[in-house]
Parts: sequence; C-alpha cells; structure tokens
Amino acid sequence: MADNVFNLEAALAFDRGHIWHPYTSMTAPDPVYPVVSADGVMLKLADGRELIDGMSSWWAAIHGYNHPRLNEAAIEQLGKMAHVMFGGLTHPAAIGLVERLLAICPRGLDKVFFCDSGSVSVEVALKMALQYWQAQGRTEKHRFIALSGGYHGDTFGAMSVCDPVTGMHHLFRSVLPKHFFAPRPGCRFDQTWNPCDVEGLEKLFQEHAGDCAALILEPVVQGAGGMWFYHPDYLKAARDLCDRYDVLLIADEIATGFGRTGRLFACGHAGIAPDILCVGKALTGGYLSLAATLCTADIAETISHGDAGCFMHGPTFMGNPLACSIAAASIDLLLASDWQSRIGRIESGLKEGLTPCSDLPGVADVRVLGAIGVVEMAAPVPCAAVQKRLMERGVWLRPFGRLIYTMPPYLINDAELGHLAGEIFAVIEQLAKIGI
Ligand SMILES: *Cc1c(COP(=O)(O)O)cnc(C)c1O
Repeated sequence: MADNVFNLEAALAFDRGHIWHPYTSMTAPDPVYPVVSADGVMLKLADGRELIDGMSSWWAAIHGYNHPRLNEAAIEQLGKMAHVMFGGLTHPAAIGLVERLLAICPRGLDKVFFCDSGSVSVEVALKMALQYWQAQGRTEKHRFIALSGGYHGDTFGAMSVCDPVTGMHHLFRSVLPKHFFAPRPGCRFDQTWNPCDVEGLEKLFQEHAGDCAALILEPVVQGAGGMWFYHPDYLKAARDLCDRYDVLLIADEIATGFGRTGRLFACGHAGIAPDILCVGKALTGGYLSLAATLCTADIAETISHGDAGCFMHGPTFMGNPLACSIAAASIDLLLASDWQSRIGRIESGLKEGLTPCSDLPGVADVRVLGAIGVVEMAAPVPCAAVQKRLMERGVWLRPFGRLIYTMPPYLINDAELGHLAGEIFAVIEQLAKIGI
C-alpha cells in the first residue's frame, strides 16, 4: 500500500514535470487527479473515490464509460485490423459508418470526409468552402463570417473564426487571417423571436458577402465560447441570408451533434440543413478521436471539377477502422435507446435542480437545454477550489470563467442527476456565504 502511494506521488511528480495539460501553466499548473478506471457515469480515482461525471469527457462520452457494446465493437475490429491507410484502400468500418451518418444527418448532405479531430474537421470545412468558390473562378470569396462568442477549435484556421476576444486572437494576430464577426445572437432559445437580432449579421452580408466563402456557426448552442443558447429562428435567418447572398453555411455540430440538445442535430430545432457539417466529440461515444466533415453533392462535384481536380487534404489516420467501428456501434446504441425521452428527463431534472440557483447571490443566469445545464455567475469562479469541493462531494465538473456547467452522459439516472444538481447548488451557496 505504502509502495502504491509512493508510486502514485512519483507518477504525479513526473506528470507535473513533463506533461502539458490543456490550458494550464507548465510551471504552476492547476492540479490534475489520477483516474484509474471509469464505468457507466462514474470515474474512479487512484485514491478510491468515485465521482459522477458531469462532463461526459468534454461532450463525448454520451453512453458513459466501459460500455459493453462499444468495447465489443473495438475488440472485434482489433481482431481484423486497427488501422490501414485510406489512400487507395477502403474498409467495411468506414462504409458502415458513412451509411449511418447519411441516414441521420440533416438532409442534402451526401459526401463525407473523415478527419482525426474536431479542429481538423473545421479546417477541412473552411478549405472545402474556399475550394468550392475557387473552382468557379470566384477567388475573391476567401473570407469567412463567424459569430462573436463562437468556438471552433484550436488550430489556426479554426482559431481565426473563434470569438476574437476569448479566442485569444491577440496572441497570434500576425498570423491569423482577418474575418468578419457578427454580434453574438442575443435572443434566448426560449424567448419570443425578435427579428432585430439578426440585423448585425445581415449588415455583414450586405457589406462583405461578395468576399465571403461561408458563414460558420455553432447551431443554437455556443459551447466553449460561453455556453449560450440562442433562438432557432436566428439559424433560419442565417440560412436565408446565405441563400440570398451566395455564401455557404457551415454548421459546427461537434459539441451539439448526437442528441445533446434534444434533437439529433441542433439544426433540427430550426428545420434547416447546412451546406457543410462538422461532427466529432460524441461521434465515437468518447472512445477515440474521430471527426467528419459532410457536404452536399454540389460542393463535392464543383470541387472535383475545379483545377485541382480533388479536395486537397488527406490525414494519415483518415477513416481509422477502429474509430469508425466504434462510432457505428455508438450511433446504433443511440438510435436503439429511447434517447429523446432520456434527454427530456435530464432536461427536466436539470431544470428542477438548477433553477433554485437563480435565487442565490452572485448568480447571473441559469439556463438548461436538452442535456446541458449552465449556471452563469456574475464574477469569475474560483475554478480549482470549486472543483475540489465538488470532488469531495462525489462530483466531477470543470468550471471555467464565470460558468459552472454540466453535460452528463445520457445514461445518468435520476438519483445521480439529483446529486449532481444538488451539489452545484450547494457549492454556489457556500461560495456566496463564505467564499471558498
Ligand atoms: C470541441 C470543439 C471543437 C474542436 O474539436 P477538437 O476535437 O477539440 O479539435 C470545434 N468546434 C466545437 C463547437 C467544439 O465544441
């Protein structure tokens, strides 16, 4: 036992000495907690504690951890081949996954490009839009329109369309291309639609559409840029502007895809379809990194008839069979489950559990949509301290900025959900009373 503890401490010291963790200092890092296993909605720490996972490992683990069906898909595919190049070769795992994606994605999307991560799928989407106009001799259409408060990933092209302030544009100003940003949609998801909300976006289209290849946005839910839920009619108006002004619409559903907002895809709230769609995160049920960029037949054909004769991209691990097999199994699992009522039940549970937070001092807003619950504070949250206190109460969350939020795995039960929401309330109450 003593030996174990010693090893654990040494391992943690090694980690601190040599391993980058996301968005934290290498010299004064936020704490990291060793996980030894995970099962269902529970994460098991090295010290024996078990935590209810309120994060689904960043929107990905929709079916929870160690799921027998996903394990089985992985093992079965491993017995055949873990990987094989996609240049000049194909395999049943990729074909099976594309059949499923085309069956569930918004209408009109017909061609699928596999990528290794969400950010790469955004790069691919931006490149597709550029090549689409290039192929028609419209090389002046090389800018993008994006929304303030948006998040699309950490690679350069993706960063250039993230919110210019929270997206840290100033650090990379000299390298990032300049795009156009509309104000963040102001009309809330559940408010009466106010058509004035889209005026800022319309003005950008009037002034710059001739230079723009595409509008990129996260439909209905802006994730890492502020966990904001906006009105589906904004999305309808955006689709309409794209059609009127000859600009493509790229929907980034990397966070929202596969049921999270109560629809299979958030575009479904507005009944619209984009020209290009990015999916990732929950695509493999959180097992492996895989993403995809889907586009219409028109875009694919136009690009293929252009000077280049093909789309200029080809990741080494494109269409990885292991990831594709697990993704196909994850989609089957989702569709076979009663996912709509599950998400509805989580939505009610989060509303019931989090709404009382509105009465606590320091709380600016509480909002819930589908299996996403957000408490926005008036001031920045002492994230590490809040996290530590939640962990003492058996809950895993990662607050950021002014937000304490959760998007649990879909299989969370009522008792676990009640505990999760109750501990969010309790930590905010304590924060208000005595500080942490
Ligand atoms: C997470 C995320 C990305 C980036 O995906 P990675 O797999 O982290 O590269 C892009 N867009 C949205 C909306 C996301 O939530």
